[in-house]
Amino acid sequence: MLERVVEQVLNKVDIVDVVSMYVPLKKVGVNFRALCPFHQERTPSFYVSPSKQIFHCFGCGVGGNAIHFVMRIENLTFTEALKVLAEKAKIDVDFSQPQSAKDRALAKQKEELISLHHDCFEYFQRQLYLRENIDAARYILKRGIRKETAKQFGLGFCPENNNLYELLAKKYSKEIIDKSGIFIERNGKNYCRFEGRLIFPIFDTMNRVIGFGGRIIDDSRAPKYMNSPDTLIFSKSKVLYGLNIAKSSKEKDFVVVEGYMDVISLHQEGIDNVVGVLGTALTQDHSFLLRRYKNEVVLCLDSDQAGKNATFRSGDILYQNGLMVKVMELENAKDPDEYIKKFGKDAFLLKKQNAMFVIDFKIKQISSNYDLSKSDQKIRFVREYFEKILMPISNEVERQEYIKKLSQITQIDEDAILKEFTKNENIKLKRIESIQHFKQVQQKSNLTEEERIKKNDIDLLSIYVEWANKSESIRNAVTEDDFCTEDIKILFSSIKNLINEGMEVTYSMLLTFVDDEKVLSELTSFSSKGFETEEAAKRAIEELKTNNNRMLWLRREMLEAQKRGDNEKVLKLQMLIRKIKDGKEGI
Ligand SMILES: [Zn+2]
Repeated sequence: MLERVVEQVLNKVDIVDVVSMYVPLKKVGVNFRALCPFHQERTPSFYVSPSKQIFHCFGCGVGGNAIHFVMRIENLTFTEALKVLAEKAKIDVDFSQPQSAKDRALAKQKEELISLHHDCFEYFQRQLYLRENIDAARYILKRGIRKETAKQFGLGFCPENNNLYELLAKKYSKEIIDKSGIFIERNGKNYCRFEGRLIFPIFDTMNRVIGFGGRIIDDSRAPKYMNSPDTLIFSKSKVLYGLNIAKSSKEKDFVVVEGYMDVISLHQEGIDNVVGVLGTALTQDHSFLLRRYKNEVVLCLDSDQAGKNATFRSGDILYQNGLMVKVMELENAKDPDEYIKKFGKDAFLLKKQNAMFVIDFKIKQISSNYDLSKSDQKIRFVREYFEKILMPISNEVERQEYIKKLSQITQIDEDAILKEFTKNENIKLKRIESIQHFKQVQQKSNLTEEERIKKNDIDLLSIYVEWANKSESIRNAVTEDDFCTEDIKILFSSIKNLINEGMEVTYSMLLTFVDDEKVLSELTSFSSKGFETEEAAKRAIEELKTNNNRMLWLRREMLEAQKRGDNEKVLKLQMLIRKIKDGKEGI
């Protein structure tokens, strides 16, 4: 039974360990805090509670237990995430049976897409070595790629007017072929989007082909490069080219480059820790991916202005996600591919050794825009330095260091800088805090009547779960009739059944049964706060049961039942209302 697996897994893994694999956590009081991995923010509003084994972000509202966290951050289905955690906890589980129908259908589609990509991969690779496609082989030679290297990276070729679609149609449904994103329909005919292109298969970290990149072999048409669109198994912002090989490198760091050719050329020279971003934007997901294997990253993007800007942004993202980031600048070559061909491996490695710490790189970039001998420019420089250099640094020691540096560059007294910066930052912090507070208040008061009733039910359910295992009287005090919202009522019933079967349902396990994102957010928001004593919990239960919202709902239900002529229900509701009223007067 899947519930048993969930119980075992949640009892054995600690959510603090799980989250720490992706985000650096900082202890604040009894909880842990971090920058939210699910939305962009500068002040941390993402919390993890070790006692309840849950997480919640007050910025974007996401919340849940360890399974939800892995689902979200790895983009997995429930069963897949459970499997990952079961492996981590060294629990042997047979997952062949108990998947939900939705999970099963999705897993099957993913499997078929992977198999289809593998078939395409083999097809493209075969084509590269055919006599009729000699132009492609010539192009590879021209770019200085050796045969072993082409094999290692699985390079291939996609000829014009090929019959790939027809071949695939014998084995796969039209739906799956369409979902692969490899074909484009034009005038009722299906064309491969990579026709006439050299093929770079894109592997995931398990060495499965999940997408393709294609480059034209004569420069007669545009665009030069084309990638697979995002599909069920492929997302550009979550994949790094070459990571399947680079993850096993013995080096302590990764070198991040922009293009397929950069990755391939450097690997060919024996630099085996190189990965490429597909398109120039590096994302937070990429940081998580890199951080799974190593703590240090050297950025080596193109030397043009676009590359410099990308270095600036990417450096920030990597640094804010706790990675040690350095920047390499290559002179007299437009990219690493050209550089290593012109100057060789040793020159490249020397450059890497002299790579600059990312913050120093940023300072160099910013200061090059100002003439610091003029006071108005100096003032503007200080402002930009505050915002782009000092603000993002959360480590006090590091910040101190860079205040000293600013003082050296500008000849302004260190204390004066510190004073001005603290003033600046406090104003900014206050503004952010008040915005967040406003958002929360707004959310609360914006609840519709329906949502308020639901919130009432959720609060009741959460107290029940917290106490049902500890107190028999609380276990008996709550019944199905106490819930107004249908889905919460169902949730309650299934939890009650599990408790009756002797399972210890913890708070974080309760969350496993919740599908609704809004309910999850509510349940993890700590607004449903715990109660110290059984008496206090009982009192809260009574209050929730007799709450005005509930009365409102009961009255409305009764009116509806009257309209329908459902006398039995009317009687039942009347009795409930009377009971609540009597109880209230009795208090
Ligand atoms: Zn968030």
